[in-house]
Amino acid sequence: MLSVVLFDLDDTLFAHAHAVRTGVLAHIARVLPAADGPGELERWHELEEHHYLRYLTGELDFLAQRRERARGFVEPYGVDLADDRLADRWFDDYLVHYREAWRLHDDALPCLEALSRLDVRTGIITNGDIEFQTAKVEAVGLSVEHVIASGSLGFAKPDPRIFLHACAVFGVPPAGAAYVGDRLRTDALGAAAAGLRGVWIDRSGEASAAELDEARAAGVRVIRSLDELTGALAD
Ligand SMILES: [Mg+2]
Repeated sequence: MLSVVLFDLDDTLFAHAHAVRTGVLAHIARVLPAADGPGELERWHELEEHHYLRYLTGELDFLAQRRERARGFVEPYGVDLADDRLADRWFDDYLVHYREAWRLHDDALPCLEALSRLDVRTGIITNGDIEFQTAKVEAVGLSVEHVIASGSLGFAKPDPRIFLHACAVFGVPPAGAAYVGDRLRTDALGAAAAGLRGVWIDRSGEASAAELDEARAAGVRVIRSLDELTGALAD
């Protein structure tokens, strides 16, 4: 067994998609009552992906990506959030609902406990703002040795530097660590390219044959649940 297992946070340990869905629907019902909430979820998701990537690449700062997401979302409804204060207030109102829905995936704590029993040390590498991500970690009762966030470093997954930085923080060589995440390229292939054991958690089971081939070629293990992790790492 490896001595260190590192995890992605959102949608790997933390049920981010669930919290977003719940938070957006509650927020829309209040501020855009005429909107088709469920029908708007995909557009919210696309705006999040688009502007969050702009944050991760340094094009926007953390608050600016939130404002752009809010502005893009309300644009079809003729709502004007050009004033930063209005955009911030709109996004903060959404965050109230998002926070109320914070929870872990059911398999997260049992997995961390199983690793602890095997004397495996654990940590998190997340693409995000350290304060915001740490608030989530604490709110849901996660306990790991180190939380490493791209926002504090200036580089983000899949840049190998973030994986190597994490290994240095733990004082282990990359070959002594595994990294588990829900995004094949950003997480599992990125980690494998940096010399860690990459593990892709495909919770929905929607992996294509091409993706599975790509994972296999890089030595990445594919699991459907964190319940499978210790078994996958024991091979
Ligand atoms: Mg993730």
